[in-house]
Amino acid sequence: MTRQQLLLHGGQHLPYTLKVSARRRTIGLRVDANGLTVHIPRRVPKTTLEQLLRDKSDWILRKLGEWQERPAAFEWRDGATLQFLGNDITLSLRQDSRNRALTFDGAQLIVAQPDPTDMLAVRRKVAQWYAKAARADFTRRIELLAAKLGVPTPPVFLSNAKTRWGSCNSRGEIRLHWRLVQAPPHIIHYVVAHELAHLKEMNHSPQFWAWVAMLCPDYARARAELKDLSASLHLL
Ligand SMILES: [Zn+2]
Repeated sequence: MTRQQLLLHGGQHLPYTLKVSARRRTIGLRVDANGLTVHIPRRVPKTTLEQLLRDKSDWILRKLGEWQERPAAFEWRDGATLQFLGNDITLSLRQDSRNRALTFDGAQLIVAQPDPTDMLAVRRKVAQWYAKAARADFTRRIELLAAKLGVPTPPVFLSNAKTRWGSCNSRGEIRLHWRLVQAPPHIIHYVVAHELAHLKEMNHSPQFWAWVAMLCPDYARARAELKDLSASLHLL
């Protein structure tokens, strides 16, 4: 694997990673978060490769541009800042060959594992911790607000839906996104109030919003804040 650079006709430099593989028969191009990677069989003349890259340069530059416009993914490293109930908490990664515990002291989320650079394992553990915390937090809020609304406490499920923070189906089951537990409490309160109000009105009529307002008087502000916050809550 080597880092290469090609000078395009427009004077632009195109950096790429070159991977030579004995098993390949054709040249393959891939553009992702790491930029352009070119897989080639052995014994491909450099001029052939460079001609192909020049021929495909419009496509390559367009794909590279698309990746640059994406929001940056969360960086799983020691000292990274996470959000929990609207507060900044610090991710602390520790090497420990025997203990694989995850502990939270209110300011730091400490993840111990034999290989602290195993980011997939860190990510899985942290997501599990968030899901557990989300279930506890959402369940308590639903109990409190359901009592206030005068309805039986509905069953609650965690969701991982890309497009919505909460939902309520015709069976009266409520689903809330686990990532919502990163948000400040008043925002979670609004989403819970919104879904519970659907137990009274399965629509977004003025009567529905009146129920929401009964549970969450400042719902309009919380709703707008959630909209602004959404992209950052999805980073994790
Ligand atoms: Zn709704």
